[in-house]
Amino acid sequence: MSSTDPHRIFNFGAGPAVLPEPVLEQARQDLMALPGVGMSVLEVSHRSAVFEGILEQAEADLRALVGLADDHHVLFLQGGASQQFSMVPMNLLGADRVADYVLTGAWAKKAAVEAAKFGQVHIAATTEAEAFARVPAVDELRLHPDSVYLHVTSNNTIVGTQWPMLPDVTGRPLVVDASSDLLSRPIEAVRCGLVYAGAQKNLGPAGLTLVIIRKDLAAQGSEDLPATLRYAVAAEHGSRYNTPPVFAIYLFGLVMRWLIDTGGLSAIETRNRRKAKRLYEVIDGSGFYRGTAQPESRSMMNVTFRLPTEELEQRFSTESAAAGLSGLTGHRLVGGHRASIYNAFPEAGVTALVDFMSEFERTHG
Ligand code: PMP
Repeated sequence: MSSTDPHRIFNFGAGPAVLPEPVLEQARQDLMALPGVGMSVLEVSHRSAVFEGILEQAEADLRALVGLADDHHVLFLQGGASQQFSMVPMNLLGADRVADYVLTGAWAKKAAVEAAKFGQVHIAATTEAEAFARVPAVDELRLHPDSVYLHVTSNNTIVGTQWPMLPDVTGRPLVVDASSDLLSRPIEAVRCGLVYAGAQKNLGPAGLTLVIIRKDLAAQGSEDLPATLRYAVAAEHGSRYNTPPVFAIYLFGLVMRWLIDTGGLSAIETRNRRKAKRLYEVIDGSGFYRGTAQPESRSMMNVTFRLPTEELEQRFSTESAAAGLSGLTGHRLVGGHRASIYNAFPEAGVTALVDFMSEFERTHG
């Protein structure tokens, strides 16, 4: 479906990213006054029954979408995924404990650097020597016998790789940075001790960090930790130890309703696969574009590719932007191009990019 608003362009940005139009419409309607409340969600107390209802409904809808059992907490936090790089080891590690990290990109490396400030980090696998063009196979993982968790990044936003399936490791919890693919496909939350994501790609606006954590793990953090950095404190206070990002939680709730109305996680996965396949087909069918991720590790969320020369890449960036296709320049660390096609990115935008790429190749190839 094309946009109902003629001013909107196709936003391929990696995050903050495109939101579903029905969500934006609803937010616009509610902005002056929530029905029956007489004020907007920006203005209500986070302790009010109104906001409590919004938060509880958002959590219930998330639980229904994921199929989440009562043995996990859902926490609405702040500080971005980057703060989770620190909170995870602060709560679960300790100077005399070891955690396994898999290095699959710049974000995974940052997570490991933070963890090393609070405990011992063992690198279970790394694909850095291959410019992170793939994620490791499960049998390449070398886990430390005493590690207390295994940290992986499910989707590597910058290089455009994704674990086809999360590794199945027994004996220790899996901790997943799912910032750029959470809720883009069904997740086996039961297998995960902790899943975290900044909301600004697939879940809502910036300012909210979602954490799904097994209750026994949340209980582990020491009482000496700062209160705002302890999972147990957030859990005890229903994510309202202090003022939470109320508007972001409300918008997250609207995104959950949109996902349910769209048919849930299997339906969105089918759509995401279809969108990504169309772009990879253009790349594979041309001698002009070159995909940077290994095919078996390709991301459904961030499609990365290069052109024959940097000069052509500059032209591609300029001309695509002029054609109303925004945000196609790759991350500054790797260059090239990246099309981020998260859940809310419309299929019409993929069609527009496919057409643009074919025409660009025809005229510049
Ligand atoms: N992890 C991944 C996989 C990301 O893509 C990002 C942001 N692009 C981050 C972590 C950092 O997120 P934040 O900006 O919310 O701290």
